[in-house]
Amino acid sequence: MKYVLVIDQGTTSSRAILFNTNGEVVGQAQQEFKQIYPKPGWVEHDPIDILSSVRSVISTALTEARVKHSELIGMGITNQRETVVMWDKQTGEPIYNAIVWQCRRTLERCVELEEYKDEILVRTGLKLDSYFSASKIEWLLKNVEKAKELLSSHRLLVGTIDTYLMWQLSGGKIYKTDYTNASRTMLYNIHTLSWDTYLCNLFDIPMEFLPEVCPSSYTYGTTDKEILGFEIPICGVAGDQQSALFGQCCFDKGDLKVTYGTGCFLLMNTGSEALVSKNGLITSLGCQTDQTPSYVLEGSVFVGGAVIQWLRDELKVITSASESEDLARSVEDTNGVYLVPAFVGLGAPYWNFEAEGLITGITRGTNKAHITRAALEAIAFEVNDVVEAMKKDLGVDILTIEVDGGAIGNNFLMEFQADITNAVIARPKNREVTALGAFYLAALHLNLFESLEEIKLKNPIERTFIPQMEKEKRDTKLEGWKKAIRKSALK
Ligand code: ADP
Repeated sequence: MKYVLVIDQGTTSSRAILFNTNGEVVGQAQQEFKQIYPKPGWVEHDPIDILSSVRSVISTALTEARVKHSELIGMGITNQRETVVMWDKQTGEPIYNAIVWQCRRTLERCVELEEYKDEILVRTGLKLDSYFSASKIEWLLKNVEKAKELLSSHRLLVGTIDTYLMWQLSGGKIYKTDYTNASRTMLYNIHTLSWDTYLCNLFDIPMEFLPEVCPSSYTYGTTDKEILGFEIPICGVAGDQQSALFGQCCFDKGDLKVTYGTGCFLLMNTGSEALVSKNGLITSLGCQTDQTPSYVLEGSVFVGGAVIQWLRDELKVITSASESEDLARSVEDTNGVYLVPAFVGLGAPYWNFEAEGLITGITRGTNKAHITRAALEAIAFEVNDVVEAMKKDLGVDILTIEVDGGAIGNNFLMEFQADITNAVIARPKNREVTALGAFYLAALHLNLFESLEEIKLKNPIERTFIPQMEKEKRDTKLEGWKKAIRKSALK
């Protein structure tokens, strides 16, 4: 047998997933690593922790699945996006902790750059924000002595996690990234497909030291036998959200996936057209299998499944997330209750950091089932708001939504999403969509599949949820939600 090894390097854990050539998972291992919070709002990871967790999960997954080194034919990598690492080209040693995408240390710097926000949007498709890598790289170059020292002697390397991992696993031979990761740095011009001179100047980042950018399905180089014990090509690389979009087989323009995790992440394939959103979404590069650019529209909801954790951990009205389904179904409706989980403001399409969380429509008869039902409905309403924004930007209706993430096991949520968005919700059989994306990218390059169509045939749907709500009821519910959102945004 032959196997493809996929590394899924996430924000809280690293995973290794082994796929057979049919795309079935035959083994996996996961390891969490330390989150470092040096100051309020600052988030870091130790790059050495990241690397050792990756090496450890690779070895565990291979041992447990009894896969031999000689049976491996390729590797795919999918990773947390925007997080940056700098290291010494000679020794491989990181010069500082990785600055994680969530880290807000450059918030003020981004406020200072406000006048450049339109230029940034036009060039990168992104909103000026400290989440993206540019201001983090600038911060490291300005504040870490070692960075200045190594830069002047041409020994400094920088990268998102994919670049760091590939460099380390290849023994310093690969210094590359893929289009999806590059497009999240806020330094990459998504139209010309090149590092942007204007932005590199703006952030005072020398362009020459940035890694080479390649298609997601491509031979980046090989792993080093001395480091991993096997030499195989690394041939599929993508940031986690774009990888999930690919893993959901959203290969065509208008295809949309929603990930229901702590937050909700919506990505829509917009084909070869870079749509600049008029409705609060951002534009990035999607997985490319060759030089032809593929674009995505993206919108994130900050609090998704987290509202269910809140019901469990703070309100204590449920003891597990899955209990929310039965409780919600125990009542006929929310009895006029709306819950807006704007715990940290509102993300896409509102971008209102002042908005506050609230529950409205409470009466003497309101009970915990109504509130739980309103919390689940809120997740669907939030997702629907982003879907509406995408529809407006694209100018077409969206008929089907592919779903993944921890909360898709909740059938009530899936049914309500179908109803409120008036779209079919398609839940895949193989829920490992993020890793599956990196597998497909590698597999295409290894010629395990002849076409994207062949991949689609191998990716069955477990269940579809068909919209059943009448238009009148949907409109009334949406009206109630809009009213609640307006209240939440009032200061
Ligand atoms: P992440 O990758 O962001 O950590 P996951 O994809 O693992 O998130 O999903 C976990 C989230 O899904 C949690 O916020 C949890 O509350 C929510 N969740 C899990 N199961 C259910 C369920 N049956 N119903 C509603 N929410 C759920």
